[in-house]
Amino acid sequence: MLNYEDARALVFQNVKPLEKCTRPLTESQGLALSDDILAPHGMPSFDNSGVDGYAVQAQDLAQASAENPVLLENLGYIAAGDSVNEKVYSGQCMQIATGAPLPKEADSVVMKEDIEVEDSKIRYTQSIQAKENVRYHGEDIPEGDTIIPAGTVIGPVQIATLATFGFSQVPVHQVPKVSIVSTGSELIDVVGQPAEGQIRESNRFMLAGMVRQEYCEILKISMIPDLPELLNEEFEEALKADVTLICGGMSIGEKDFAREILKELGVEEIFWKIKFKPGKPLFFGRRGKTWVFGLPGNPASSYVLFEEFVRPALRKMMGRRVLEESMVKATLETPITKTYNRLHFMRGLLHEENGEFRVRPLKFQGSHSIGSLVASNALIRVEADSPSMPAGSMVSVRPLRNEIA
Ligand code: AMP
Ligand code: MG
Repeated sequence: MLNYEDARALVFQNVKPLEKCTRPLTESQGLALSDDILAPHGMPSFDNSGVDGYAVQAQDLAQASAENPVLLENLGYIAAGDSVNEKVYSGQCMQIATGAPLPKEADSVVMKEDIEVEDSKIRYTQSIQAKENVRYHGEDIPEGDTIIPAGTVIGPVQIATLATFGFSQVPVHQVPKVSIVSTGSELIDVVGQPAEGQIRESNRFMLAGMVRQEYCEILKISMIPDLPELLNEEFEEALKADVTLICGGMSIGEKDFAREILKELGVEEIFWKIKFKPGKPLFFGRRGKTWVFGLPGNPASSYVLFEEFVRPALRKMMGRRVLEESMVKATLETPITKTYNRLHFMRGLLHEENGEFRVRPLKFQGSHSIGSLVASNALIRVEADSPSMPAGSMVSVRPLRNEIA
């Protein structure tokens, strides 16, 4: 049986970024840039004022003081959005708004708060450094600089940067289309009233939510009983996606048909079963362009396996550089006494105290436990065959995006 590291390495070696395409800027959030973005021009794109004030030549004010005020002739007002042809020569100044273009020959701007108006003249009582209160062309971002490297996920700040440089279309990777099929004859829909032995299906909603967190597209989402003919049809349809998630029926029970049917449909098995808890019977395979993950039906198993295998695989397909959130070191608040001969990712509660992370494993760790999912915000890595760990031990923790009240 593969261990966690080798299984993940196999997934990451196999899965490749999807083709490049362009998308409208306004629809690009959450996608990854496929190419480096270089500044097509310097930013700011022209010299402009950083304050509301008066554009001057700094040397005119070199001797200015309360005892020795300097009077400069005011040529008028430049608003933001105006273009200026005027020049400010020695002995002159011009009122200017924040963001308005600096008149030629002026080299600094005195703040409005620091002057007094005397008819058509402006009275200055302080000297000023050249370049003060001016935002110079290219001082923020020089032309040609790599402003955003390929593989960066596009968020609000990236959108602003792309907008300011005029990228109305952005180069990205195509988004994986994902199918989700939950299997199990015991499953009923959320609106139903479960008869004895039945449960409401929940994993497909959870998995779809996780897929949406990665901004991937959901091609198909369904639920199907453990009947081979139906599974066969449903899987065939689901295999049209870039990523097919089959949930349940992956183990060795009498009605666990999923693996067999996937193989019948031509899915090549890359691995099945890993030395990992929760979620030993993880299946990974491919058919053509389609990657197939078979997740066990226990909610905590499919959740943790999605977090550790599917999420980073989706990110890789999207061309993202950052495949997952980094693990952090945290101090264990309560001991871990029970360990296994497989790596165990325990659900836990992570919090910060005086600038340090502390974590507490939840008491209940059953892989069927929905309660532990909604109560946890982190996964604690406990090595296979680890000796028990007293409170105060340092552990590796994967923070999860799950808000705890
Ligand atoms: P399986 O992996 O099919 O053997 O299912 C393992 C356990 O998870 C069983 O108790 C199932 O009832 C439960 N289960 C399977 N699929 C789902 C699902 N989609 N939603 C909620 N529970 C499920
Ligand atoms: Mg089942």
